[in-house]
Amino acid sequence: MSRWLSAFLLAVAALLAGSIGTPSGPVESAQPEKKPAWAIAVHGGAGGAPPAAGKTSPREVALRAHLNLGREMLAKGCSALDTCETVVRAFEDDPLFNAGKGAVYTAEGKHSLDASIMEGANLRIGAVAGVRTVKNPITLARMVMEKTKHVLLIRDGAEEFAQKLRLEIVPNSYFDTPKRKKTPDDKKDNTETEGGGTVGCVCLDRHGNLAAATSTGGMSGVMAGRVGDTPIAGAGTYANNKTCAVSGTGTGEQFIRHNVAYRISVLMEYKNLGLEKAADEVIHSVLNKGNGGVIAVSAKGEIAMPYNTAGMARGAADASGRFEYGIGKELRKEKAP
Ligand code: ASP
Repeated sequence: MSRWLSAFLLAVAALLAGSIGTPSGPVESAQPEKKPAWAIAVHGGAGGAPPAAGKTSPREVALRAHLNLGREMLAKGCSALDTCETVVRAFEDDPLFNAGKGAVYTAEGKHSLDASIMEGANLRIGAVAGVRTVKNPITLARMVMEKTKHVLLIRDGAEEFAQKLRLEIVPNSYFDTPKRKKTPDDKKDNTETEGGGTVGCVCLDRHGNLAAATSTGGMSGVMAGRVGDTPIAGAGTYANNKTCAVSGTGTGEQFIRHNVAYRISVLMEYKNLGLEKAADEVIHSVLNKGNGGVIAVSAKGEIAMPYNTAGMARGAADASGRFEYGIGKELRKEKAP
């Protein structure tokens, strides 16, 4: 056999064995992809200066508790949908955040609440807007999804539906907290200076399903009847098992204009971007500085939480033991409780 022929045959054998054309170094594709069995992220609004270094604010203590509630549920095998609803209810009952109890005031000096919840497996979504007497708008949003053929109910219609379902009804003054000002000072957004913001939760469960939920008292001092991005599918909330689940917080008008939550999903679906790249692109290149942020979890269990404000109350946990939360740049990393 000529030298050339034997070299050629050796090269063919090596190629068949898969050793030619493989760059040296770690062979990533040969490793089974490590996907956490479940993952969760929560937010309590993008706004407000982070607490001074070393200090833990009451909002961070609350974030930790609500994150842990969701962590325990997902670890036990609860669905992403149940976990999102339960965690957002806990935030709604917590006066430190602008959702449910603790909501900001509109220009009329009243509270007007919006919420939505979405399932990634089938793109079902339920939402409510402008409700004034429903203690937990996120549960009403879920009922819209599960018990009607509609997606979004508003004001009186939503409230009548809540009464029919015997959900907890409260006077509008139930949402009052001494921290919020009835007459907002135009120069100061009291969402930022006096308490936490909008709340949200995104989850991947052990069954591979994604869900997202968001709830808000809107923005301080807005016109009566104003609706933000929170109850708008694809703006403030979106979930699709093909890509990711997203919950947003910030200037709702901007989130609606730019379809923020859906845009992150389509960048993944059509441009093949990873979760972090897609979320970063929308928050840092599409939105303007100061507009807000998102929490997002992908179908692979990755978590992204970019924001373009001074801080965003947020937290993340997953099956690998990740457990972190905070408001400023640096997150507190702990061993899962
Ligand atoms: N996005 C909410 C809204 O515009 C407000 C917020 O997240 O702070 O209603």
